[in-house]
Amino acid sequence: MSARFATEGHALSTVWLPESLDAEMAPPASDMTCDVAVIGGGLSGLSTALHLKRFEPKLDVALFEAGRIGYGASGLSSGQCAPRIGPSIERQVKTLGEDFARTAYLYSVDAMEYAGKLVRGLAIDCDCRPTGQWQVALRERDAGVLARRADVYRALGLEVPLVATEEVRRLMPGSGAIVNALRYPALQLNPGRLCIAMKRAAHDLGVRIFERARVTRFDIASGKLDVGTANVSATRSVVTVDGMAASLGILRRHVLPIVVHAAVTTPLTPAQRDAIGWRPDSPGLFDARPAFNFMRPMPEGSVLIGGEYRYGPGIASTGGADATVAARLARQLQAFFPSLSGLPIARSWYGTPGCTLNEWPIVTPLDDRSRHWHLGAWNGHGIALSLAAGHDLAAHMTGLRPERPLPWRLPRQPGIPAPLARLAIPLYLAYLRHASRLTHPKGTLKCS
Ligand SMILES: Cc1cc2nc3c(=O)[nH]c(=O)nc-3n(C[C@H](O)[C@H](O)[C@H](O)COP(=O)(O)OP(=O)(O)OC[C@H]3O[C@@H](n4cnc5c(N)ncnc54)[C@H](O)[C@@H]3O)c2cc1C
Repeated sequence: MSARFATEGHALSTVWLPESLDAEMAPPASDMTCDVAVIGGGLSGLSTALHLKRFEPKLDVALFEAGRIGYGASGLSSGQCAPRIGPSIERQVKTLGEDFARTAYLYSVDAMEYAGKLVRGLAIDCDCRPTGQWQVALRERDAGVLARRADVYRALGLEVPLVATEEVRRLMPGSGAIVNALRYPALQLNPGRLCIAMKRAAHDLGVRIFERARVTRFDIASGKLDVGTANVSATRSVVTVDGMAASLGILRRHVLPIVVHAAVTTPLTPAQRDAIGWRPDSPGLFDARPAFNFMRPMPEGSVLIGGEYRYGPGIASTGGADATVAARLARQLQAFFPSLSGLPIARSWYGTPGCTLNEWPIVTPLDDRSRHWHLGAWNGHGIALSLAAGHDLAAHMTGLRPERPLPWRLPRQPGIPAPLARLAIPLYLAYLRHASRLTHPKGTLKCS
């Protein structure tokens, strides 16, 4: 289940992509035209292209991917297909009101359910399981935040219950560090296999897919694209490059490329599994501390741990994590499960999702006539949202009425000029790490 494949200039190591990737689809050999150009071959681009073709089979849809399908954040994620969109629910209620917060959360639940439906409908073998996901408090002060958050969900009539300490101990023995948790519905899946299967499904429907076809120039006014090997003229387009939007000159002040790291351990021994109560259908976990680490059990018995955020302009969008970062992730794992102290990291990597200052995604036309669209900046919640929003945007572009009310009325995005972002975002991330410092009761364990 592990693979190593050459991308642009470096060998990228991830656990998710299948051993033998299916045949590479070559970039265009000569100049071409198309009805809709989809730029980016992650889950957003794949879902948009697939649904455009489903809803309007005569449409000539061409998808251009800079590397291989699955090369971006989609194939590198932790595969937790969970609800949630935008900032914390309490902040949404405060700034946008109860109705908005409720609608937004329900949209994200619907998106997750839609993702499961899509996987089943296409008979995709991607180890998709309904495991749920817990947001866990490792400190008393975060336990208070979660208790208040549970109250907000309850007041909105939304089912996100609090798991009290005794119940945590019963359901997850060995997680001595977890004080309490919020329980969300969620699926866990293999995101690499999902990408490859979506690529096949889109191709079978007639989407023209071009890999190693990086768009180096995109002129919105004329719909002209340069992909290195050819010039492309597109009547309409959808930009789905997530954290890489600025490289196309789009939403430069709004989409922030944030590097997220992940690592998997060597498989746990039976004794280690017993100690933490590990099961293949154990819920995924994410941390209530501001630095927001996450982890999940892997089907073959190891653990994936993720986090360690960096501001990413000028850094290759994907790659292997360096040893210092891998060591920090191992320490974070120890914070969740002290009994796993010293468990070796087998493999580590990073990807660069797009984030925004107000944590809402950006689904917006890029021109006055709504011929060209941006779909992305999922703020790290992209698996469910990209699949559902790709469906919804395709419905909108083909004249169908989208079933879901969002993401068509998301809050407006504040922008930040690049020089200021270069200064402020790393400082903000450093502050989040500092605010997440964890001291073991005996003072032996410090995670930052
Ligand atoms: C380590 C890690 C863990 C994560 N865990 C989760 C999780 O558990 N759950 C969750 O919901 N989300 C998670 N995410 C976030 C999630 O992966 C993303 O939000 C989601 O995959 C975004 O999908 P996308 O299609 O919009 O972007 P991407 O998957 O990044 O796809 C964009 C594609 O565009 C291509 N591209 C870029 N520039 C160009 C260009 N100029 N021309 C052509 N192509 C271009 C890229 O190569 C890439 O393939 C995680 C991310 C990372 C990195």
